[in-house]
Amino acid sequence: MFGTHGLMDSAYNLNSTGNVEMDKEVRLHADSIRNASLSSVADLFLAIFLWFFYLLSVSVLWTHSISAALAAIIVFPPFIVSWLGYLRHELWHNYIPIVPNRFFFNMVSNMLFSNPKIINFAHTTHHRHLHTEGDLEFFCKDYSKNSFKRKAQFLFELFFGNAAWEINFMARFIKSPQFSFWKQFMSVVIRIVMLLVVCYSVEFLYPGAGVPAIFVYVLSIWVGAVVTRQDQWIEHLGVLHPKDNLKNRILKTRSLPNTHWSNRIWNMINHNDSRSHYFHHAYPQINLRDVTEIPLPKEVPTTTIPQYLKILWNHWKTL
Ligand SMILES: [Zn+2]
Repeated sequence: MFGTHGLMDSAYNLNSTGNVEMDKEVRLHADSIRNASLSSVADLFLAIFLWFFYLLSVSVLWTHSISAALAAIIVFPPFIVSWLGYLRHELWHNYIPIVPNRFFFNMVSNMLFSNPKIINFAHTTHHRHLHTEGDLEFFCKDYSKNSFKRKAQFLFELFFGNAAWEINFMARFIKSPQFSFWKQFMSVVIRIVMLLVVCYSVEFLYPGAGVPAIFVYVLSIWVGAVVTRQDQWIEHLGVLHPKDNLKNRILKTRSLPNTHWSNRIWNMINHNDSRSHYFHHAYPQINLRDVTEIPLPKEVPTTTIPQYLKILWNHWKTL
């Protein structure tokens, strides 16, 4: 009964914030599927522990073999850093029960050396202005007017992931009413202090590994940022429909179901973030992440990793 598209269609009702409201019956059913589980709380603490354990282990490894440590930095951050990024997003939406979501959202953002204020500001625009230039998570300033900017943004993000997006977005954020120089300054101070605490802890536990911890941290964030951005691009890269209403724009969200071996590997690394991403945009107020009980509406585009590589190339040619 829950999986009928008729019910899904009747559930649409755009409210003033631009989200899509869900029928009460559907909401209750969805809640029983998702919110009964406490596994996301365990995931949060496990991911935080794993991140510190990884930083310590690879920093120690660095003191013995830099090449082995670099290999570990390529292998593990796509999973661990993207997990923290994924959980940060869940915290933004208040999806994780029991824990104070806002506190952990700020904490995980700082752990990723990311300004929580920036993503806090931009993610609202992503949901509200999805697939239009108002979506500040995906479209640079003057996107439609300036080919050079489009190309520069693409290449910068291709090589530096959402770290590049955040640096680029900072220039716009400075001009917004939400920007405060003092808060921005304190945000940088907090992140540097957190990094120094980690490095001193590593040095205390294994003398000589404290300085390598800085290199391990920076390189791991870089690798994780690139993988996370690719995951987001699978869902939204190049999708631009400014004239459509929100319901139709949401239907253009790409999902990556486990229909191909490469999708399975990608989804495993990225915690199934894009497996059924359409549902996250259709019902962002309810935790329907990685839902497999409900079939995707037939209009929703799905892709595979080989197809995505073609999307990537074709997108570049349009810039
Ligand atoms: Zn979201």
